[in-house]
Amino acid sequence: MHPDDRVLAEAARGFMPGDEGLALWQAGADADPSLGPMLEVGSYCGKSALYLGPAARDHRTLLFCVDHHRGSEENQPGWEWHEPDLLDPEVGVMDSLPFFRRTVFDAGLEPWVVAVVGDGAGIAPHWGSPLSLLFIDGGHGREPARLDYERWTPHVAVGGTLVIHDVFPDPADGGRPPYEEIYLPALASGHFVETSATGSLRVLTRLASPSPEFSSAQVGVSPQE
Ligand code: SAH
Ligand code: MG
Repeated sequence: MHPDDRVLAEAARGFMPGDEGLALWQAGADADPSLGPMLEVGSYCGKSALYLGPAARDHRTLLFCVDHHRGSEENQPGWEWHEPDLLDPEVGVMDSLPFFRRTVFDAGLEPWVVAVVGDGAGIAPHWGSPLSLLFIDGGHGREPARLDYERWTPHVAVGGTLVIHDVFPDPADGGRPPYEEIYLPALASGHFVETSATGSLRVLTRLASPSPEFSSAQVGVSPQE
């Protein structure tokens, strides 16, 4: 990773340790842009986008950043990961979008990093392009994690990359849903193999599929209630 990009990513606000961020950038740099653009679910203030964005720029492709910017359960007032200055005082709900935009602007990545603002589970069924890389770092509750797996992973192109954050096989290290609802099902499906692990970040590659039912054409489901 270019040192200038790395300094900006490390200084950005968010939840991505430096070694895992570097592994995320590496996954982006290794992804084949001819397979499609990249997409992340769960952007918050833009930290992970500052790791993947430079890879998208260097590949002359786009990184789509899906987030409703209203925060996950654990970001709400009274929860462990709440940051009070992200609350929009006029409407009384969280809004990380202005912070995301400023972070991406300051890094000079606006041409390559595109915000998609809304509920990921509602957007996924309407998504049309195969992805060279999908990064899942959205809601970490059981149901949000399950929906991200079910609705987004079929969009990964054969030969493409699935990166999952906050995978904790040992419950003592953190919450279980990304491990139980995304990582394990991806491996059990037979459609993905693990290619690297750094901290809680797991990089998987999608295999050529013998079973045609696992494809984005089948993700014709209605938005989450
Ligand atoms: N990748 C970020 C951290 C993401 S935190 C970083 O590097 O710092 C998780 C994010 O997921 C939050 O911003 C939250 O708003 C978003 N999120 C949670 N559930 C979501 C959903 N169903 N649809 C869209 N975004 C969601
Ligand atoms: Mg995370």
